[in-house]
Parts: sequence; structure tokens; C-alpha cells
Amino acid sequence: MSHDAYEAVIGLEVHTHLLTRSKLFCGCSTEFGRGPNENVCPVCMGMPGVLPVLNRHAVELAVRTGIAANCEIAPRSIFDRKSYFYPDLPKNYQISQYETPICKGGYIELPGDGAARRVRLVRIHIEEDAGKNIHEANSSLVDFNRSGVPLVEIVSEPDIRSAEEAGAYLRELRDILRYIGASDGRMEEGSFRCDVNVSVRKKGASEYGVKTEIKNLNSFRFVEKAIEHEVARQIEVLESGGKVAQETHLWDPDREETRPMRSKEFANDYRYFPEPDLPPLVVPPEMIDAIRSSMPELPAARRARYARDYGLSAYEVGVLTAEKDTADYFEAVLPGLKNARTAANWVMTEVLRVSNESGKPIAQAAPPASEVRALLKMVEDQQISLNAAKTAFAAMCKSGKSADATVAELGLAQVSDEGAIAAACDKVIAAEAGKVAEYRGGRDKLFGFFVGQVMKAMGGKANPKVINEILKKKLAG
Ligand code: ADP
Ligand code: ZN
Ligand code: MG
Repeated sequence: MSHDAYEAVIGLEVHTHLLTRSKLFCGCSTEFGRGPNENVCPVCMGMPGVLPVLNRHAVELAVRTGIAANCEIAPRSIFDRKSYFYPDLPKNYQISQYETPICKGGYIELPGDGAARRVRLVRIHIEEDAGKNIHEANSSLVDFNRSGVPLVEIVSEPDIRSAEEAGAYLRELRDILRYIGASDGRMEEGSFRCDVNVSVRKKGASEYGVKTEIKNLNSFRFVEKAIEHEVARQIEVLESGGKVAQETHLWDPDREETRPMRSKEFANDYRYFPEPDLPPLVVPPEMIDAIRSSMPELPAARRARYARDYGLSAYEVGVLTAEKDTADYFEAVLPGLKNARTAANWVMTEVLRVSNESGKPIAQAAPPASEVRALLKMVEDQQISLNAAKTAFAAMCKSGKSADATVAELGLAQVSDEGAIAAACDKVIAAEAGKVAEYRGGRDKLFGFFVGQVMKAMGGKANPKVINEILKKKLAG
């Protein structure tokens, strides 16, 4: 039987850091990249006798995430202790939510050309992160900076059917989290992590197969590769008459394969029980309303609007809306321009390029949107050429000067003065009598040559449209 007879069934568990300044239960900073154990205190080091104090902002961001993901927000939820021992967890338990999470249900809609694909969510809950073990040649070290950093875990239903779809889900989720300011979504810094659950079944079957879980995936590409590898492996097992074992695998990025972890490490008995040091978490309806009314337009809505209002392609819309910064900037460039596509092209090429090349956000790398608008207006009004606008833009990024001042300073203004252009045309016609005769004899192709000569005579700054009109008349005569 061929691999085509099977389908993959995939559910994702995403852990993402919430963008709070302090940790979930203490006042320590959440800043990434500090020296080892600089962001610690007795609470996040798990000293005996300390008490957790819940970070209100973390709750607000979790609610924001739930609203963005179409979840039901629980008016009352419970923190639980999840007991396990690991050197990066000095309390010997993690404060999490188990039976009563803050958000239930919901879904993420995947972008695509056809009918919208919905991936349903099981739940979103709040928990604290653990520290980090660092293994060296002859020793292991523990850094507790991450211990107590607030997380939400976003658990999907097994609604995903391919590696590609898993990638699309993760990108959409990350974009949403960034739009709403809940997370920076940086996979490479571990602030957006994903565990993948995979099973396969015969197409058309109604029951799910036995799943394996893959941990340790820190890039979208690895998620996709690991799924492809694991799906193929499970099909092989079934095809050779075996059974898929329910186990946890680790992705090995060097060998590009998954390896089972020792199952002993995963004898899961976490002994959950309600955290006695925290009361039930009550989210009042006013708080939910306030957060709901402060939600920005989400990526999906923005994509639909751009496609409808500006007639841009799915690709262009995707580039412009991937980051909220980019989309906001594009919209700030727009007012007063005749053609949205001019602004779209400019943002996608020039603006994103200076931002990427400098590694800085658009706000720091590019001139204010109003100045780019002024520059593009000059192009639309044929005061400057597109090339001149590029030159001006590059100068403006460095100098911070206005579009007007830069165009004046660099002498980029296009000459549309018909008298001056007509004089230049006369000169070229007089100097090129032979070619003029050829042109009049039927060699139409020479027209471009004359335009080029006039442009050269005018130092490259003449309005090409005016040159064309005047030359046509003069050469005809
Ligand atoms: P566990 O008890 O092993 O943690 P859960 O039921 O809590 O399993 O589900 C964990 C994740 O695994 C969820 O994202 C869920 O969608 C996914 N999942 C559950 N069953 C399957 C399956 N048969 N195949 C693929 N993914 C699954
Ligand atoms: Zn602390
Ligand atoms: Mg589970």
C-alpha cells in the first residue's frame, strides 16, 4: 500500500512567553540575554516559605490572546501545582493551570486562497517557565533567569493534516501574538516553542491512530521537517505490520531525524492539585470588555481588507501584513496618494530593505511615513522620477531630512518646462540629421535613441513624458 493511503493527524502545543516586564509571581525582570542568574529572587529560586503574587499584566495578555483566538474566557480559573523534579525547577513543582484553564475552545483561521481552514483550540492556560540547564563537558549549570517567566500554553485540537499546514498554523499564531503585543514570537530565543503530536491513519478512518510527541523544536523549518520524518516513519512501522508506540521523541537537527527519549523520563504522574498559595483567578466582565475594545485589527481581517480595497495580490498582502509595524506604516503612507500600489511597492522594497539591512525596526530605519508619502506624491505629480525618489529616499534614511529639502538639496527635481525641453530637442535634431532622415524614412526604433540624447542633454532630469510628446511632434514635422 502506498503512502498516499494514509493521512497525518497533528496537534500542536505552543508555549509562548508573555511580554511582561516582570515575572509571573515576583518582581524580577524578564529581560532576555542577561548574565546567568541576574534576574532572580527567593520567589523564582523556589526558596521555602515564599509566596507568589500574580502579575496582573500577564493575566491581561492571556485574556488578550484568548480573545484573539476566539476562545471562551473563564470568569474563574484555578492555578495548580504540577509536581516534578528537575534541576531547573527548584520548587519541585511548576505553577500551571490544569482542569480549569483561563481560556477554552476557540480557533485559528489559516490564510489561504480557498475556503478558510480552521484549526480548533482545546485551551489556553497560564503557567510559569522553568530555568535552563546548561550542560558542559564535565559539569552542568543552571540559569534561573527564565524561571518564573510567564507563559501561555496554546493547545490545538488534532485538526492539522500536513507539515505545511502546521507551518501555516504556527506562523499565523505567531503573527497574531505579535499583533496584539502578547509575545515577541522569537523562536530562536525560546520565547515561542512548540511540541508536536503526530499520528497517522488510513484515509477515511474515523478513529485516530496512536500518537508520538516530538519536543525540542526551535524553528519552523524543524517543525516541518520533523513532522515529515515522523509521518514517514510511522507509515513504515504500520506497513511492516508493527504498532506505533506512544512515546516522546526528540528532534535531532544535525541528523534530521527523531529519536525516542527514554520512556522512564516520561512516567507522567504530576500529582496536580490546586495551588494553596493562590486564590482562584477571577477575571471580571469589565476587564474582558476593556481588553476586547482595545484589540487591534488582526492579521486575517487586515489581509481581507487589503485584498478588497487595494487590489493587491495574496503575496503582496502577506508581505505587508506579516508585521503590524509594516502594515501600520503602509497605511500611514497612503493618504492622498492616487495609487495604493505605488505605496505598497515602495514599502515592500525600499522600506523593508532598509529595515532588514540595518536590523532595525521600520520606525528607526526609515523616514517618517509622512515624508515617504510626500516623496511618492512628487513621483505621482511627475516632479521627480522614480529613480530620483530612490536616491532621495536613501539620503533621507541617513540624514533624517524632509523629502522637500532632500530633493532640493540634491537637485533631483524633474524639469517639465516645455521651452527648455523643446530647445534640447531642436539641438539633438540638428546634430543628428542623418538619424533623423532614417527615422523619417521608417526606422521607428530610433525614437528611443532621440529620447536618450535629449535626456542626456538635460542632465537626466527632464520629464520623460514631456520629452516624448515634444519629440514626436518635432520628428513628425
Ligand atoms: P496527552 O494526554 O498525551 O497530553 P492530549 O489529549 O492532552 O494528550 O493532547 C495533547 C496534544 O496532542 C493536543 O494538541 C492534541 O490535539 C494532540 N493529539 C491528541 N491525540 C492525537 C492523535 N491521535 N494524533 C495527533 N495528535 C493528537
Ligand atoms: Zn524573582
Ligand atoms: Mg496534555
